Amino acid sequence: MATAVVHYAAAALTDRGRKRPSNEDAFGYSVEHGVFLVCDGMGGAAAGEIASSVAVDEMLRVLTGRDPGKPLAAEAEKAVAAANQAILSRAKRSNKLTGMGTTLVALLVEERRAWMLNVGDSRGYRLRNSRPGSHLEQITLDHSLVEEQVRMGRMDRAEALRSPLRNVITRALGTQGCVTPDVFELETEPGDIFLLCSDGLTRELSDSLIESLLSAGAPLEELCTRLVAAANQAGGHDNITSLLVRVEA
Ligand code: CA
Repeated sequence: MATAVVHYAAAALTDRGRKRPSNEDAFGYSVEHGVFLVCDGMGGAAAGEIASSVAVDEMLRVLTGRDPGKPLAAEAEKAVAAANQAILSRAKRSNKLTGMGTTLVALLVEERRAWMLNVGDSRGYRLRNSRPGSHLEQITLDHSLVEEQVRMGRMDRAEALRSPLRNVITRALGTQGCVTPDVFELETEPGDIFLLCSDGLTRELSDSLIESLLSAGAPLEELCTRLVAAANQAGGHDNITSLLVRVEA
């Protein structure tokens, strides 16, 4: 019996936003290898930009060169460890880069199976286009101080958004010798749209607004443009990155 082949399509857009002098977000993907990545870097001077691009490059290098016979989820964890080491060793070579780090959200697909991985507060969502309407679901859980307080019931969502500690993330690549991503295993359906994004998008737009923008049925490039434009319109306080992946019929 022939194996069903599932096709994926992708588009991405990153934007400096309206307030920041530079863009420390990075994205990368290979549709052929089923690898999609968004990173949001942090650190002084140009360090954040370096951390996020080193992470994307190293993850892509490891995952596009992987042994196809090995389980993808295990290869992904290996890639995360390699990206973490690559940032640490780059930081060691320059004092200016000390303490740089980055978030990571990744989607890996293999036929109908998908894995979402995250470290930090960049998010992964899935829009499922089922009748009667579309439904947006946040798959990842932020590794941030305030989100962890919300999950423990110690803070409500409105307090979290106002908190002076809202920028503190509790897990990042490049800041410790060892980092463990959360891994979510999923099954894809034709029509599903996955969104990987930095917090510059999700702090400006509510989930219900993202859901309605993604449900419009436009080409992925156009949807990315609309998401970034809406985040800029809402203030554009941070760098904004949107990467969309659609499961084709
Ligand atoms: Ca950010």
